[in-house]
Amino acid sequence: MSEQIFSLIAKEQKRQKELIGLIPSENTVSPAVSRVLSSCLSNKYSEGYAGRRYYEGSQVIDQIEQLAIERVSKLFQVPYVNVQPYSGSPANWAIYFALMQPGDTLMGLKLAMGGHLTHGHPTVTASGRFYNSVQYGVKKDARIDFAELERLAKKHQPKVIVAGNTAYPFELDFKKFRQIADQVGAWLVADISHITGLVIAGEHMSPVPYADVIMTTTHKTFRGPRGAMILATERGLERDRDLGKKLDAAIIPGTQGGPHNATTAGIAIAAAEASTTQFRNYGKQIRKNATALAQELLKQGIDLVGGGTQTHLMVVDLTKFGIGLGTQVAFALDVAGIYANRNTIPTEQGSPFYPSGLRLGTPLVTSRGMKEKEMKQIGRWIAQVIKHVSVQQLPTDRKERAAFLKQFRAAALKDPVLKRIRKAVKQITAKFPLFAE
Ligand SMILES: *Cc1c(COP(=O)(O)O)cnc(C)c1O
Repeated sequence: MSEQIFSLIAKEQKRQKELIGLIPSENTVSPAVSRVLSSCLSNKYSEGYAGRRYYEGSQVIDQIEQLAIERVSKLFQVPYVNVQPYSGSPANWAIYFALMQPGDTLMGLKLAMGGHLTHGHPTVTASGRFYNSVQYGVKKDARIDFAELERLAKKHQPKVIVAGNTAYPFELDFKKFRQIADQVGAWLVADISHITGLVIAGEHMSPVPYADVIMTTTHKTFRGPRGAMILATERGLERDRDLGKKLDAAIIPGTQGGPHNATTAGIAIAAAEASTTQFRNYGKQIRKNATALAQELLKQGIDLVGGGTQTHLMVVDLTKFGIGLGTQVAFALDVAGIYANRNTIPTEQGSPFYPSGLRLGTPLVTSRGMKEKEMKQIGRWIAQVIKHVSVQQLPTDRKERAAFLKQFRAAALKDPVLKRIRKAVKQITAKFPLFAE
């Protein structure tokens, strides 16, 4: 019954250990977090909140959830926390449900310029279907275009402005977002899913003094279980005393049922881990590593969107090697033992499926204990792979493109250059456990 699955898990574990993971939204959890996730807590139903559950037998769950809330509340210095969201996307949905009526205007950063789908992508998401979505973008230098944001906000009078991103390499200026939100009376929601760990470590401006509501996933730089949390700030509660009640109600009964209690316990542990000096050092090292990787790539003649990074991630601009090369470069890197993801760039001339960028981040390799020296080596390998495979250009004709990629993939799997790098990658990763400290 279980053997097949356990053998697949063993395979996945081997892959995670042997390869170098540079997907900026991924991380690896501590043994303690990992342990609670397979505990008996997931057997229990506990719809509702501590002291007012719809199910009997929730006394222990109440204590676990309260502990998680207290720890997160202290960590961020915020008066309201909800740890029940199943993940980041439903958490954003719940926030919109609490703050808006269908048809109200929502503003978020365009997906192709580094925003998240749930920030109002106009055609493929519920957030774009149920709300009037107006999206802002970035300037030529890849920084948020605040002048455009202000102009659009004044014209469209949004109820909610979201400040958040998934592929934006620079610091988000929450103060500027606040000034614009104030001019039009909008709620400011900071979605810090990617950067929570940096905010906690003091390596990124905190949204707490500026935003009304904050959302973060718990499995990215926070290094906890897969899940999310919603926080409300003093400022948010001053604007609406019932904000906490509204957010609670938007989770259950608004958009969810029973909380995932094992996840809640994992969040409590991750919050305690994130309160240590060790974690602050971890956050600092994430950025040092990202800077070292970016510098090495630039040195090797690889372009980066906006010319570099101020955070945990960077976006490689492959345009000078060819348009739409992201797919083949990401595939070749995976063969070489380095996995990342293809990404659109702000000046995209390809398509979301065949984009011209590559997104790289350092949270996971930093959790494994890698430092600047390893980043330099990884940077050299990435540059080598890009130059090696972009000699073959992606055809623009649709049919030809599919055939080309099929052939390209088959050849890459046997490519001696990629194989040689993979061997060297294996030697390095053997020295770094999945979770160092
Ligand atoms: C990851 C992410 C989300 C969505 O989280 P899921 O857990 O994948 O649903 C939302 N917003 C931002 C900014 C993210 O980075």
